[in-house]
Amino acid sequence: MRPYFPLTPIGMGTLQVECLSSFLHRLAVAHGVTRYQLVSHLQRWWVAETGEHLPRCQELRWDGYSPNVATALRALQHATGQSLSNTTLIALRDACAGNCIGSIKHERSWCPGCFAEDIAAGAPTYDRLLWRIQGVERCSVHRLRLARTCAHCGSSQFRDKTWVDLHMCAVCGDLLNIEPSKRDYVAKPFFGEVQTEWLVAHLSSLHETAENPLSRFLSSVDVTDRQLTKELGDIFHARCHPARPQLTSLIAVATCFNVDLMQLLTEPEAAAKQAVLKLGSASPRRVRRPSSHLRKSRTLWLKDQLIAAIAAGPPYASTAELCRTRDYNVDSARNTFPDLTAELSRRHHAWKEGESKRHLKNIKSTLKRLQARGKQLTVKTFTRLVAHESGAPLHLVRKVVGSTNRA
Ligand SMILES: [Zn+2]
Ligand SMILES: [Zn+2]
Repeated sequence: MRPYFPLTPIGMGTLQVECLSSFLHRLAVAHGVTRYQLVSHLQRWWVAETGEHLPRCQELRWDGYSPNVATALRALQHATGQSLSNTTLIALRDACAGNCIGSIKHERSWCPGCFAEDIAAGAPTYDRLLWRIQGVERCSVHRLRLARTCAHCGSSQFRDKTWVDLHMCAVCGDLLNIEPSKRDYVAKPFFGEVQTEWLVAHLSSLHETAENPLSRFLSSVDVTDRQLTKELGDIFHARCHPARPQLTSLIAVATCFNVDLMQLLTEPEAAAKQAVLKLGSASPRRVRRPSSHLRKSRTLWLKDQLIAAIAAGPPYASTAELCRTRDYNVDSARNTFPDLTAELSRRHHAWKEGESKRHLKNIKSTLKRLQARGKQLTVKTFTRLVAHESGAPLHLVRKVVGSTNRA
């Protein structure tokens, strides 16, 4: 007997396919539990069924291609009776870097326009696999920059321990699909966007990748190593032809040579025949690709980022925020730089505390000032008015107004 309700991932086989973490969230909500609880249940069930242990919930970057994802997919496919592979990048497991750097973002990102459309259609809101991939920063349907934090409270979005819908903030409960401003509009695709979209749209037809596709491709194209280093220097400066490159590197090569990434992965020699090096036209060096650094230089780079964040003064990001916005693993940052991360966290907490005190003071004085208005308005409207007037985040105002109402 299958242990879970039948629920299907949305958009299978299309560019808009749902990612596994989103599917798991919806599956958990359908059962009235959090994703953390669902995964704990899955772990116990899978050990009883097969004797095989599943990794802990936080250790999985669900949507990628790591061995952990492969194990989780086996268990989930068994539990739900359907194929879920294409909600992840598992098809790339033999072609891309074993350490998974440069594949899946460490935090959620979303297109407010897509959420608004889901809602208008009366359909469930969900996260697209495309949004999870590093380097994807724009929705090509709505030409909007993907959002990474809640516009109301500024929080990054994590889903392991909440059960609100995916278009609602896990911290303050407000909507994540706010009306986009002019600033969010991006007319032209970012570097590599077209190739990444092509890959996601055709993932279901990618059954097997060729052996060493990138090195075979690069040996077959008619370009000197010097030219390659010039165009793609920051990717290949240590080893010219890595056997298992990062996904971001593959996308960069496909973009620079203007080839079909699917063909590069399956028939590298044939792809090389089609290749035209767009010299200088789309140099990835001018594009922010935080994850293409090699491991050692990447570690040093993070150290500089930590030092700079501490030196920059308030507002201080938390260590977790700093790492996530730079697609760096939080635990490994804490292990490598215990003193720097501790110092940053200490400053972050001290700053946060000061900020809430300041906000609380403002809220209280605003409440006093608007007392008379409060009697004429609904609690919801009044809360919004106080938040607007005091400049304090809505969730804090809600707490204060709630406690004064009860009192
Ligand atoms: Zn969109
Ligand atoms: Zn929020």
